[in-house]
Amino acid sequence: MVATKNYKIWFCTGSQDLYGDECLRKVAEHSQKIVEELNKTGKLPFELVFKPVLIDQATIRQTLNDANNDPECAGVITWMHTFSPAKMWIIGLQEYKKPLCHLHTQFNEEIPYDTIDMDFMNENQSAHGDREYGHIVSRMGIERKIIVGHWTDPEVVAELADWMTTALGIMESSHIRVARLGDNMNNVAVTEGDKVEAQVKFGWEIDHYNVNDVVKYVDAVSAGDVSALTDEYYSKYNILLEGRDEAEFRKHVEVQAQIEIGLEKFLTERNYHAVVTHFGMLGGLKQLPGLAIQRLMEKGYGFGAEGDWKTAALVRLMKLMTAGKKDAKGTSFMEDYTYNLVKGKEGILQAHMLEVCPTIADGPVSIKVQPLSMGNREDPARLVFTAKEGPAIACSLVDLGTRFRLIINAVDCKKTEKEMPKLPVATAFWTPQPDLKVGAAAWILAGGAHHTSFSYDLSVQQMVDWADAMGIEVVIIDKDTNIRDFKNELRWNAASYR
Ligand code: MN
Repeated sequence: MVATKNYKIWFCTGSQDLYGDECLRKVAEHSQKIVEELNKTGKLPFELVFKPVLIDQATIRQTLNDANNDPECAGVITWMHTFSPAKMWIIGLQEYKKPLCHLHTQFNEEIPYDTIDMDFMNENQSAHGDREYGHIVSRMGIERKIIVGHWTDPEVVAELADWMTTALGIMESSHIRVARLGDNMNNVAVTEGDKVEAQVKFGWEIDHYNVNDVVKYVDAVSAGDVSALTDEYYSKYNILLEGRDEAEFRKHVEVQAQIEIGLEKFLTERNYHAVVTHFGMLGGLKQLPGLAIQRLMEKGYGFGAEGDWKTAALVRLMKLMTAGKKDAKGTSFMEDYTYNLVKGKEGILQAHMLEVCPTIADGPVSIKVQPLSMGNREDPARLVFTAKEGPAIACSLVDLGTRFRLIINAVDCKKTEKEMPKLPVATAFWTPQPDLKVGAAAWILAGGAHHTSFSYDLSVQQMVDWADAMGIEVVIIDKDTNIRDFKNELRWNAASYR
């Protein structure tokens, strides 16, 4: 489900024809070597492709337009090995539409003290050429990522890898399609938003269906298919009957299996990658989709509850950006629920009525059937588990009326001090950075929602780079946050993002 294109990133080296063939041959040789070695690290999420050295306006324009037109090209990395007079770049950059990275590196790591002469200096002058190029990109107001350091430095390689993932997010954002099975929950403010502006800014297509359009698909699922999927659930998850009748329990689980199959067919046929539900708008569905939604999120679908299409699209985006990541720890829709305010043990218990993605589970996953405290349907089956420990990010996209703001909080996930045997939902528990007191105050000042898109597998910086590429305001709450500066940042942003 999360499969995307076989993306590649182009590596474009800038120079000019002033240096002669011998020098340009070496420039090309060095660039090819850098590309080869970077590909060999095995650390990049997709392949780097060497492009012939760019020495004049025509080749720059042609190459950047070729990048625009190649559906597999997710972005371009530029590097000025020598001096490349930047007026030559203007028309190409004006026409270029994809993610841009400026790798400010140099072929040699150390100054060759004993042998350096003017020929060497003229051939290896990215400190010089990259400043000329950087000037024009800044003057033209083009958003790009700048990565500085030697190309063999593992930190530089990691930054390149992270940016390549962000480039995928930028490219794929415009393909995200959300099916709303029900509107935003009445009277709720923070999950509302301007769907037209979301399409302008992010490319998201957000459509609406009556939930009964899906019910037709659910009703059409064969008993054999329901039984087979329920068997799969029973082989994969622990069954926690908790005193319920075994046959009655299975019937409840079967309802979720039927919803999973029917809903996925509905989404696949219409090419949707994210879905929202609303516990108060269930039409002919017998249960609130719980286990069914959890399974779809695990497959890579975005999800938002109570009509929250912004979070659904963001979850899908983050699922795309983390798909195929080695040793991934998980990405999910999440909701701030209850605090632990005991000094030294502060944290936020995270959960939802049902819909938490099992990719974040630590250890075994079980099925429970329990009544819901809201809505008017039969007791839904849901997957229960606790989430992994470690650093993660929680993101909230809010509509401030005149603009979108992405709020990113670095959080530290922990185990709760004790088990919670009576809580029939999947949970995570985290302390926001820099601590609960400052983290929660900053989140509220920024207008962040109670719903978040949560991931262990993306960095704050990757989401900042995505937001920058989308041209929206982004604020970070992390170990460096203090309220006085944060309030000023919000004030300045209000002036900047009018
Ligand atoms: Mn909710």
